[in-house]
Amino acid sequence: MALRKIRTGNDECLRKVCKPVKEINNTMLTLLDDMADTMYDADGVGLAAPQVGILRRAVVIDVGEGLVELINPEILETEGSVKDSEGCLSIPGATAEVIRPAYAKVKALNRNGEEITVEGRGLMARALCHEIDHLDGILYIDKAVGDIMY
Ligand code: ZN
Repeated sequence: MALRKIRTGNDECLRKVCKPVKEINNTMLTLLDDMADTMYDADGVGLAAPQVGILRRAVVIDVGEGLVELINPEILETEGSVKDSEGCLSIPGATAEVIRPAYAKVKALNRNGEEITVEGRGLMARALCHEIDHLDGILYIDKAVGDIMY
């Protein structure tokens, strides 16, 4: 268990399309542990692997309902749309309004390699979409409606 350095600003890792995780080995499990530690330490609700410089499709989320670890996540379904304020650990001190689905359903693998589905509304739907965007090099500021507030 350890903290990893969160990549910020113009770091090129934040703009890459990440590769699928092929094998859930000890390196991947350590990465997931470190990502959760790093997220909690930074008071975030989500963190994607490229934010710690690893270009693989893995994210961790905790919106206050417990830790969710997602490997190779894919959005299956969304419903509705909500505009709300959003921030990102890789863009410290900034927020902007982003329109996201009100509901999202995602499939992924868990750390045991089992297929799981995770669904959520509100902040959970927002976090799922935000973190999965990171895996494709997309930042919320790309989708901001209106000004980015510092
Ligand atoms: Zn982010």
